[in-house]
Amino acid sequence: MVERPGSDPPDSHGCPTTPRHPLFATVPDVEWNDWRWQLKHRLNSVEELTSLFHLTPEELEGARSRRFRVDITPYFASIIDPDNPHCPIRRQVIPTVRELQAFEGQDVDSLAEEAHSPVPGLVHRYPDRVLMLVTTQCASYCRYCTRSRIVGDPTAQFSRRDYDQQLEYLARTPAVRDVLLSGGDPLVLPPKILEMLLERLRAIPHIEIIRIGTRVPVFLPQRIDEELIAMLRRFHPLWMNIHFNHAREMTPEVARACARLADAGIPLGAQAVLLAGVNDAPEIIRDLIHTLVRNRIRPYYLYQCDLVAGAGHFRTSVSRGIEIMESLRGHTSGYAVPTYVVDAPGGGGKVPVGPTYMISQGVNKVILRNYEGFITIYDEPNDYIPPRPTTRAADQEAMQAGLAALLDGSISAIKPEGFDSLHRRDQEMPAGGPISA
Ligand SMILES: *Cc1c(COP(=O)(O)O)cnc(C)c1O
Repeated sequence: MVERPGSDPPDSHGCPTTPRHPLFATVPDVEWNDWRWQLKHRLNSVEELTSLFHLTPEELEGARSRRFRVDITPYFASIIDPDNPHCPIRRQVIPTVRELQAFEGQDVDSLAEEAHSPVPGLVHRYPDRVLMLVTTQCASYCRYCTRSRIVGDPTAQFSRRDYDQQLEYLARTPAVRDVLLSGGDPLVLPPKILEMLLERLRAIPHIEIIRIGTRVPVFLPQRIDEELIAMLRRFHPLWMNIHFNHAREMTPEVARACARLADAGIPLGAQAVLLAGVNDAPEIIRDLIHTLVRNRIRPYYLYQCDLVAGAGHFRTSVSRGIEIMESLRGHTSGYAVPTYVVDAPGGGGKVPVGPTYMISQGVNKVILRNYEGFITIYDEPNDYIPPRPTTRAADQEAMQAGLAALLDGSISAIKPEGFDSLHRRDQEMPAGGPISA
């Protein structure tokens, strides 16, 4: 499971460890391995950054601009190449002046999350699940953060009253069966607060699954200690989705943290953001997903970078993402292939995109191509009758309309707003208009 070549120096238990940045060489192991020490000693000032890394003029100007909070755990700082500005780890957390560059289509809330929030911090975008933002703090801050409008701001914390409102909304909304805790990073919450939230969520009978979206195992693997594991395993079914962007993030410490979570019966997923100069190449993504499955983590989503202010220089074309997906499907284990999604600007939610495999259709037949370019025909039955819908009316009501309703016959068209009035021209025409005989 050790991903880094060469031999990492063992710790006092004989386990391999990541070599520390020389500046931390004398920190005692008990402090280095203490997540609270790591959080307290995060790097953020220009002086600290310049003492650890050879910053380029662009990085130096970025660090001085303070556009968006900087904080890097000493552990994560140790896997950054101090001399190479192209280091894929470095680009994710060290600011650059390019963050200040505006671009076409940028927004501070590009996913319109605020508009979908019935109470502060609860984003109810989909019929049966919600995104519950429980903190604005993270262990380290990603430069392309999609929620930089609130994340990192120490004055924008969630209060007891916000939690109460979120939980009250969930308790009175039986359609919600899946709650995704995010932020910020739920795993940097004080342990008692996280435990209280999980307990109160579990007390709501219609909530079937709880998920935690986190990057703590990557930024602060020390946090995944026995105490946390013992607490989390009381709240099954609990799922976890970990943000990983590059195979180099899978150090011995991170691999051990993920193994503890998996051993506790928590199904692990991973999500990555496609980032220019970090992971925008087929071989980098392939390396990442293979590393993940070796560590019992199922690649879940690969995100197109959002149109969030500050992230312009990280964006790739969507076609590059499709090219990468083309290089995965069929070429490697299906389990290792994530779904590539564009989170639709304006709050449309995640839209899966990818290569097209059905290249034509005829009566009772479809023409398919595989990953190698082999083209074949699949003959469909001409006497197939699908079963009648058995879903109860209440379930059907809870379903969004959309193409699923078009297919099951409950609606016959989907029209843009104002379509009918625009096209009822006959009623608007004065008598004797061009249509009258
Ligand atoms: C991503 C997301 C979810 C979860 O979506 P899944 O596809 O079920 O993982 C839920 N709510 C919001 C607002 C989201 O952005």
